Amino acid sequence: AKQAGGGTFRRYHAGMTARGAERNELAAALRTAIVEEQLVLHYQPVVTLPEGRITGVEALVRWQHPERGLLGPGAFVAAAEQTGVIVGMGRWVLRTAVRQMAAWIAEYGVAAPATVSVNASPRQLQESSFADDVAAALRDHDVPAQRLTVEVTESTAVGGGATQDNLRALRAMGVRLSLDDFGTGASTLSLLADLQVDQIKLDRSFVPVPGPDAIAAAVVQLAAAFGIEAVAEGVEEARQAARLTEMGYRRAQGYHFARPMPATEVSARLSAPPVT
Ligand code: C2E
Ligand code: CA
Ligand code: CA
Ligand code: CA
Repeated sequence: AKQAGGGTFRRYHAGMTARGAERNELAAALRTAIVEEQLVLHYQPVVTLPEGRITGVEALVRWQHPERGLLGPGAFVAAAEQTGVIVGMGRWVLRTAVRQMAAWIAEYGVAAPATVSVNASPRQLQESSFADDVAAALRDHDVPAQRLTVEVTESTAVGGGATQDNLRALRAMGVRLSLDDFGTGASTLSLLADLQVDQIKLDRSFVPVPGPDAIAAAVVQLAAAFGIEAVAEGVEEARQAARLTEMGYRRAQGYHFARPMPATEVSARLSAPPVT
């Protein structure tokens, strides 16, 4: 039994090492990718209900891998987070999104998206320089803080390190905060009260039709009670948009309206008629 245990341990250990090595390789490749500009941002419109007008865009990272083609964040963000490469990657995402926002403001004026949202992971928020990096990016591109939204999940928001200082500093400079994947984490109402976010994003697993209405309806009422914006994510069908509108949602995001797309395609839509 002892020997079997040892064998099990060795196999388990070897497996961990293989996975660890793979992760480190990915992280090294990702570091190169940042320098060689293989990362790209796609932007997914957030639209108004019921008009379907673009009111914001969420920046979503992709990796144009030289051998493997265009990779989604599912293929590399977790490894980036575990190895710390996410800090450099996140800085690139932030600066690129803010620079793009400056370009939209310059070119489209009042028709530019009101805000660009970037996703921030736990490791990024724990970094003591995060809020300063945000401030520097905004200053360098002359973008008002109100036009940037930082999306965090509930577990990110309760993180340690410099997380709480960063959240405070972001709020103080006027950057908008959004609570992502709302309802899937360890949500508590006191967290919602403490965080003072500007927006909550209903996780797509709670979007009604054919799913039940209860959580989606409760979340939009919760947002109203807190005086903040509710966004429904993952809206794929017209009847879902209609149902959410009935419930009181005024913001939505999902394939029904627009998929994540290169900045140039967003630009084309800023002058095109809305989708409803
Ligand atoms: P998320 O922040 O919840 O982003 C929404 C995800 O849902 C995106 O996947 C988007 O393409 C997808 N989506 C949008 N509309 C629909 C829809 O109607 N139906 C369905 N089924 N899916 C929809 P994506 O781009 O693969 O990103 C996955 C996750 O990766 C993001 O989830 C976010 O957590 C993370 N991520 C993306 N970009 C970044 C980044 O720059 N930094 C960090 N730290 N994480 C990122
Ligand atoms: Ca998000
Ligand atoms: Ca605010
Ligand atoms: Ca989400």
